[in-house]
Amino acid sequence: MTSTKHGFGTRAIHAGQAPDPRTGAVMTPIYQTSTFVQSSPGKHQGYDYSRADNPTREAYEACVASLENAKYGLAFSSGCAAMDAIIHLFKSGDHILCGDDVYGGTFRLFDKIYKKLGIEFTYIDTTDASKVEAALEKHPQTRLLWLESPTNPMLKISDIQKLAALARSKGTLTAVDNTFMSPHFQKPLDLGADIAVHSVTKYMNGHSDVIGGALATNSKDLFDELKFVQKSVGAVPSPFESFLVMRGLKTLHVRMERHAQNAMEIARFLEKHPRVERVIYPGLESHPQHALARRQMSGFGGMITFFMKGGLSDAQRFLENVRIFALAESLGGVESLIEHPAIMTHASIPAENRKKLGISDSMVRISVGIEDVADLKDDLDQALKA
Ligand code: PLP
Repeated sequence: MTSTKHGFGTRAIHAGQAPDPRTGAVMTPIYQTSTFVQSSPGKHQGYDYSRADNPTREAYEACVASLENAKYGLAFSSGCAAMDAIIHLFKSGDHILCGDDVYGGTFRLFDKIYKKLGIEFTYIDTTDASKVEAALEKHPQTRLLWLESPTNPMLKISDIQKLAALARSKGTLTAVDNTFMSPHFQKPLDLGADIAVHSVTKYMNGHSDVIGGALATNSKDLFDELKFVQKSVGAVPSPFESFLVMRGLKTLHVRMERHAQNAMEIARFLEKHPRVERVIYPGLESHPQHALARRQMSGFGGMITFFMKGGLSDAQRFLENVRIFALAESLGGVESLIEHPAIMTHASIPAENRKKLGISDSMVRISVGIEDVADLKDDLDQALKA
C-alpha cells in the first residue's frame, strides 16, 4: 500500500491496490458481482450490494483520491454523472456561480436539468477575479463556485487559489473540473478547492474505451453526502470499467508528459503555419494567462485550440483530410483526435453565446496523442495544404 510520501507515479500504479489476499493476484480482480453473501442477516465482509460498494470500484476510488492528494474519492458512470452528484447537494433557491466557458454538457446539465428544479445559475468570466468577487457580493445565496480550468475549448485559465479563497471567505464551496489537466499537472484541492471532478473518459482512463467520472474531496461531510447521492442515484461504474480506468491510471504520469511534450511542439509548429490565424495553448508565451498557467500547473496538457485562415469550408476541408488524427469528439486518449467545436462538442451552446465566447466556424480543437510527433505534424501539414 502507498502513503502520501510516495511519488505520483508510484501512487498511480499502487494506490488502493494490494495483491489479492486469497490468491496473490497482483492486479485487483474484477469483482463482477451484484451481491455478496451474508453469514447472518446484516453480517457480511464489508460489502452487501455493488451499487453501494464494490471492491474493484473501491480500489479505483482510493487511487483517484490518492492522485488528487485527497482523503476520499468517488467514481461514477460518466463525468456528467459525477457533476450531477455534486449539484444534487443543492436545493431549489440555491445559487451557483459558474464559469462562462465550461464544457457544453456541463452547461446543458445546469441550464436544462437543474434550472427547472429551481437552482439558479449565473455564468461569468472567472478569469477575472473582480467579476467573481462582485458576483459573490450580488448573490449572497451562492453555495457553489464552479470552475473549469483550463476551459474547453478556449483554454482559459482561472486562478483557482485566489478564487477558492474568495469563495471560502463567503462560505461558498468551490468545485473544479480538472479533466483537461488531470491531477498529474494540476491539483485543485491543494489550491484550496473543496471538490475536484473529472470526466475520467479523458486523460485519467486515457484509452478512449470507457465513459466514466470521478471526484475527490478532503471533507468528510462532503464525502458522506456525495457517497449517499452515489448510492441513492446509482450512477456507478461497473467493476469492469473500474478495472479499466485503474489500469489506465497506472500510466497517467507517463502519458501526460508525452501529451504535453507533443502538444508544445505542435503548438509552435501551428503558430508558424501560413494557413493558421491564431493558436491557443497554455504553454505558449502568447497565451493570455501563460504566467498563471506556469504557476498553477506543472505542465500544459495536450489540448490545443486554433483558428484557421478562411471560414467554415476551409475548416471542413482540413478536417476531412486528416489521416492520423481521427475526426471525433472526446479527448485525452493516447490517439490524436481533432474536432470542430461549433458543429460537434459545443453545438449545445446557443449560437449567440458561442459567438460571445469566440467559438467561431474557423476554430479547430485538437487532442494531441502520444504518437510520434513528426507524424502528427506531417499529417496536420498535408491536411492544412489540402
Ligand atoms: N468535463 C469536461 C471538461 C469534459 O470535456 C467532459 C466531456 O467531454 C465532461 C466534463 C463530461 O464527461 P463525460 O462525457 O464523461 O460524461
